[in-house]
Amino acid sequence: MSDEDLQRIRAAWTERGVSFKPCPVCAKPGTWVLAPTFTRLAGRAQQDGPPMANDYGYPLVPVVCNNCGNTLLFNVLMLGLGAALDASPEEGAESG
Ligand SMILES: [Zn+2]
Repeated sequence: MSDEDLQRIRAAWTERGVSFKPCPVCAKPGTWVLAPTFTRLAGRAQQDGPPMANDYGYPLVPVVCNNCGNTLLFNVLMLGLGAALDASPEEGAESG
C-alpha cells in the first residue's frame, strides 16, 4: 500500500467523521497505528446491498493498538475506496 493509499484512507475517515478514541482494551490514548498492508476475510460478494466484498473476499485495512495489540479492521470498499486502491490479495497479509 502506497503513501497515497494511506492518505486516501485517512481522507475517507475524515469525510465520515471517524475519530480514534483511546483503545477500549488497554485504555491508552493515541496508540492506533494504520498497518501498511491490506488483509482480507474470505467471503463472496452479494448481488444486493452495499459492495462489501470483491473477487478476493472482504478487503480490510488493520489498525493496531501499539500498546496491547487490539486490532480494528476497516473495509476499504465500504470506505468507497475499492476502485482507488489495489485491494487484491497480492498485497495482503495472507502470506507469511
Ligand atoms: Zn490497546
